[in-house]
Amino acid sequence: MINVVFAAHPSRWPLYEQPLRTAFAKFGLKTQLRTDIPPAEVDYIIYAPNSPLQDFTPYTRCKAVLNLWAGVEAIVGNQTLTQPLARMVDFGLKQGMTEWVLGHVLRHHLDIDYFLARQSGDWLPKVPPLSRDRKVTVLGLGELGAAATTALAGLGFDVTGWSRSAKAIPGLRCLHGADGLTQALSGAEIVVLLLPNTPATQNILNGETLALLGRGAAILNPGRGPLIDDEALLKALADGQVGHATLDVFRTEPLPADHPYWAHPQVTVTPHIASETRPETASEVIAENIRRGESGLPLLYLVDRSLGY
Ligand code: NAP
Repeated sequence: MINVVFAAHPSRWPLYEQPLRTAFAKFGLKTQLRTDIPPAEVDYIIYAPNSPLQDFTPYTRCKAVLNLWAGVEAIVGNQTLTQPLARMVDFGLKQGMTEWVLGHVLRHHLDIDYFLARQSGDWLPKVPPLSRDRKVTVLGLGELGAAATTALAGLGFDVTGWSRSAKAIPGLRCLHGADGLTQALSGAEIVVLLLPNTPATQNILNGETLALLGRGAAILNPGRGPLIDDEALLKALADGQVGHATLDVFRTEPLPADHPYWAHPQVTVTPHIASETRPETASEVIAENIRRGESGLPLLYLVDRSLGY
């Protein structure tokens, strides 16, 4: 019997219990799945960083911590966590993020806000360029960034992607490193942030890098709040360097009611809904990793603690 404790936030248990049981049965795993297994008897922990569980020391025989979130910045530095940590990569997350990115890119590309706001009699023939003449840059070419950029390239956008290591993705201009960042941002009209929150990525959009963008550029941030220097963004919005920012993630969440982003006419706030882990698809990834762990195979989507993602 494999002992699996569900230790994500307690509010998630009713959503995950049945999909997990179904996935374990499908993968032929004989498991005891509960929320209250004594720590010393636990083989795997299904986890999320907002869990009450923060001390992993008593989980002496635990083979892996399986995170339900893609982002791990709130857990990766936990010194008591010595077990392998896998993050969530699944179809639902990728598809949800791709849809959010496509929708908001098209909103800016087609200037949909202009047409929503126009008055009767306003017959200004504002024709948007074709997608091939729209420069879109995506920072982060991981699981989510690669899926979103591939979809954007499929719609014909002039897409540049940027990552830490060199990549080759068909249909994309792939850049990396510090010089690559300057090149990727220079003249960009729509910028999408799909980087993890690590010491190396914080404030990557700041006064200096925002100044590289095409004038009036749109920023989409479904990555993490600390990727943006908020003061610099507000200044760039005020002086017209940035035309609009659509922000899904923030340094403090929920975004405080008095934060200037809420009332700002050039900012759209979405409440961290760009992409949610979906229990049905995520449960299969959890089951697959337990199957691998039990078969002595390497786990999927292991976090590199030294890089922080
Ligand atoms: P991932 O597969 O780990 O990809 C991360 C990407 O960022 C990789 O391409 C990586 O480069 C790049 N990167 C990391 N550090 C870098 C650096 N210092 N310089 C340049 N590039 C760097 O992550 P993912 O699954 O795509 O998820 C990305 C992020 O999306 C998550 O960390 C999370 O914060 C966010 N997210 C948000 C939501 C939401 O609802 N808003 C939902 C899910 C995830 P390499 O490829 O070279 O390693």
